[in-house]
Amino acid sequence: MLEFSHLLDESVTAAVKDTELHSVVVPMFNEESVAEQFVARATATLTKLTEYELIVVDDGSEDRTYEILKRLADHDSHLKLVRLARNFGHQTAISAGMALAAGDTVTVIDADLQDPPELIPDMVERWRAGADVVFAVRETRKGETIFKRASASLFYRFIRSFTKMDIPLDAGDFRLMSRRAADALIGMPEHNRFVRGLVAWIGLRRDHVHYHRDPRYAGVTKYSLPKMLRFAADGVLSFSNRPLQLAVWLGFLSSAVSAMLGLYFIVLRLTTNQIVEGWTSLMLVVLFLGGVQLVTLGIVGEYVGRIHDEVRGRPLYLVDETANMGEDLDSHFRRTPLPPR
Ligand code: UDP
Ligand code: MG
Repeated sequence: MLEFSHLLDESVTAAVKDTELHSVVVPMFNEESVAEQFVARATATLTKLTEYELIVVDDGSEDRTYEILKRLADHDSHLKLVRLARNFGHQTAISAGMALAAGDTVTVIDADLQDPPELIPDMVERWRAGADVVFAVRETRKGETIFKRASASLFYRFIRSFTKMDIPLDAGDFRLMSRRAADALIGMPEHNRFVRGLVAWIGLRRDHVHYHRDPRYAGVTKYSLPKMLRFAADGVLSFSNRPLQLAVWLGFLSSAVSAMLGLYFIVLRLTTNQIVEGWTSLMLVVLFLGGVQLVTLGIVGEYVGRIHDEVRGRPLYLVDETANMGEDLDSHFRRTPLPPR
């Protein structure tokens, strides 16, 4: 769907053929306090690789992030910028950057220096040894709250058992993908993008490197609690129909309980003179069933909402402008914010 190759500079495509080109994709949302430091540290490492491009996706920042990046990009043609039309969210920003990456490998990394860019050459080594997807797995996580660590650990274990997808434990979005793995991911048009799950779905040859996660270099987390909950819901709902099956079981369970209760009351009525008193128990049953029905309806609603997202067929994101992407692409986005088809 997102096909840019015909717009890429001929000379770039030619260069890819005789030397390796490594793309690094970084989403940034209000990261003015780390942007410059990130670019400096990443560039210092990446210059050790043959050819590279550092693609920063500005996910609708409202601070000076883009200004800072633009100034840096004016002096460094390796630094390529994509500015989205608004905040589309972390997972979509990653997809936007990947769609524009031309490399033989595409690595995704966070901007806050929690994930060390110095690890990328090791990941490239694994790719040279034949891996299609190289995950960077966190051994320790410094500077994150107990709540964040506990919820993350619980989340990964839960989603693995729930979706039956082989999502590696404690690997975030820091990973390297081969050209064919990246193409497979870009080719998936779904709107509710849980990239970790999509990568697990692709399969192919996988490898790992391990690292110790540093605290955020500066600034605060851009994942608020509601964003985290949405993210978790996306993970479960776009990879599993089990919530729907749970709803069915809940229905069977309450039918079974009510059948047994009914039987008990009939027997009681026929064998004794006892009349069942009822307001409290009646209220409880009515409220319980009302609750079960609303929850079930909500689960179905979540799926219907997602179907609605997909059938509207809107593009995943709009690009406001790009820089250093080559004159063709840069001017294309100045005319129309839509990715070319
Ligand atoms: N991010 C983004 N759009 C968003 C939220 C986050 O592009 O809507 C970027 C953010 O700038 C960072 C990365 O995604 O580079 C991870 O975000 P953050 O470090 O805040 O998340 P955490 O590490 O706390 O889970
Ligand atoms: Mg972070």
